[in-house]
Amino acid sequence: MPTFVYMTRCDGCGHCVDICPSDIMHIDKTYRRAYNIEPNMCWECYSCVKACPQNAIDARGYADFAPLGHSVRALREEAKGTISWKIKFRDGREKDFVSPIRTTEWGSIPSPADLERPSAEAMKSQELAHEPDALKISGGLPTLRPDQLKREVV
Ligand code: SF4
Ligand code: SF4
Repeated sequence: MPTFVYMTRCDGCGHCVDICPSDIMHIDKTYRRAYNIEPNMCWECYSCVKACPQNAIDARGYADFAPLGHSVRALREEAKGTISWKIKFRDGREKDFVSPIRTTEWGSIPSPADLERPSAEAMKSQELAHEPDALKISGGLPTLRPDQLKREVV
């Protein structure tokens, strides 16, 4: 499920419109409230959820921390340096946790054009460009060995 906006919370400030990399958060001209114009194109990147000062946007959490059928709300508090997450499950349970805001200095990420061209061998690799170095993982990404797989699957 992509993002959706609680109209009674939204004040139409437009921060979500400015930050959305998919350009799908728009302000409704009649109601002056934000809405997701193309849910199918939502990356679920959470940029708008974190940027919203009114805490007006809910989104789906990734399956690695919350299964289907729930909503996720995130509150970004710059002064405290934290993002507070609230996950609401369909059965009424709620889980709250807090994570630090991770900041990357502006301009510190090189553009692909600044990086060395991958070799022909690297182009055939399953790893993305500049992995695992860019992930700061020594010895490569962890992979399953054949003896860790179920029998007959190999
Ligand atoms: Fe745009 Fe990301 Fe928000 Fe989806 S989650 S509406 S892609 S900013
Ligand atoms: Fe509304 Fe929040 Fe978007 Fe501002 S950032 S327009 S309050 S949904």
